[in-house]
Amino acid sequence: MAKIGRNQLCTCGSGLKYKKCCANKQAKTPMALRIVAAVVAVFLVGGLVVFLTNIDDYDPHANTTGGRVWSEEHGHWH
Ligand SMILES: [Zn+2]
Ligand SMILES: [Zn+2]
Repeated sequence: MAKIGRNQLCTCGSGLKYKKCCANKQAKTPMALRIVAAVVAVFLVGGLVVFLTNIDDYDPHANTTGGRVWSEEHGHWH
């Protein structure tokens, strides 16, 4: 694609300056990228769910990590 100045007429034939026309369209996220982002988000949320599920399986009375105990009631370590 040829480089076009932002104040030149857009090559698409709209009669608008490039910065008011296709410059904005190109700035928008491509659909394919959005789908990838959505898939990544789903995986991240899925990983978080697995992480939280593992915490639920964790025995709060087990005294393992430096004498601290996870409190499910309070949602933090004691
Ligand atoms: Zn255009
Ligand atoms: Zn507490």
